[in-house]
Amino acid sequence: MSIDANGDVTIQGVSLRSLPKVSLHDHLDGAVRPATIIELADAIGLEVPESTPKALGAWFAKKSDSGSLVEYLKTFDLTTAVMQTEEGLTRVAREFVQDLAKDGVIYGEVRWAPEQHLAKGLTLEQTVEAVQQGIEEGEDAADRAGHSIRVGQLITAMRHTDRSREIAELAIDYRSRGAVGFDIAGPEDGFPASDHREAFDLLAENFFPVTVHAGEAAGLASIRSALLDGRALRLGHGVRIAEDLQVIQQEGDEVQVQFGDLARWVRDREIPLELSPSSNLQTGAIAAWGNTLADHPFDLLYQLGFAVTVNVDNRTMSATSLTRELSLLIEAFEYDLDDLETFQFNAAAAAFLPVEEREELVEMIAEGFDI
Ligand SMILES: [Zn+2]
Repeated sequence: MSIDANGDVTIQGVSLRSLPKVSLHDHLDGAVRPATIIELADAIGLEVPESTPKALGAWFAKKSDSGSLVEYLKTFDLTTAVMQTEEGLTRVAREFVQDLAKDGVIYGEVRWAPEQHLAKGLTLEQTVEAVQQGIEEGEDAADRAGHSIRVGQLITAMRHTDRSREIAELAIDYRSRGAVGFDIAGPEDGFPASDHREAFDLLAENFFPVTVHAGEAAGLASIRSALLDGRALRLGHGVRIAEDLQVIQQEGDEVQVQFGDLARWVRDREIPLELSPSSNLQTGAIAAWGNTLADHPFDLLYQLGFAVTVNVDNRTMSATSLTRELSLLIEAFEYDLDDLETFQFNAAAAAFLPVEEREELVEMIAEGFDI
């Protein structure tokens, strides 16, 4: 098996890109086309570190691979800088959807933090509406191109600021106008979900779905807080739940593992893990297990029956796509089509959609994988 320049592989005679997929953990400001950054920056007189899309793409990859979180975060300063106008937000959202559709994604959730897009005077409401406009244009364009896709917004609050209650209200306000869920993002270590209890209480009182970044840059205490204080229905990455597993014995494929209470709860209650292989490697989230993709506890979690899903996190920074992430997992763990289908079923079941629509996704996946 080999991964082509587009991150695609042919598996059991079929192109992975063509198979129906669901993308749950995908940041808007982490998925801006380099060519678009250059054009939007030019229009607002902003300097960019490289002048061609190819060189700028390579700049993102270099910063993201540097092992320095400071360097990595600089890349977001650039993408958010070109997303401070309605035009910028709409275009980036439209292209986000079109790129997903081209990658075979049939349902996606886009997460982004409205509070980071107010520098040029937009209101929170204007930012949400501009993104929604782009999503709808993207869905229409994808339809015309023969790839049907639907995308919902995950309205995100930053965990190191104090606007989460206001952002939760915003999310609830846009419930039937594009918003399907709520998330908190930003520095995890030192900023637990419990800091945002008021926002989470409001969301819970309104039965509004929540996912929380947890178990990425911090460990079990953060996951515990996401579940208890955040009442998270999914965990953003959640990869460090594996710290609560003690491998007692490993013989060939047979692994004997002792579960902590938290890991047992997450596994038995099937709380979906939004795992993001490349990103988890680049941000050091899996450093305790090793420094290659084959060291990722993804396979251990999958074999133990956790509800694993495969995600991109930040497509531009990691120069990746959902197809490429799946390809990398096949390379690392020799998965076959049945495994890949299971990951898509898990993601469809975890989508913040009414049950009838989740069932429709499941049917589309089953049909697409029936080859
Ligand atoms: Zn993320």
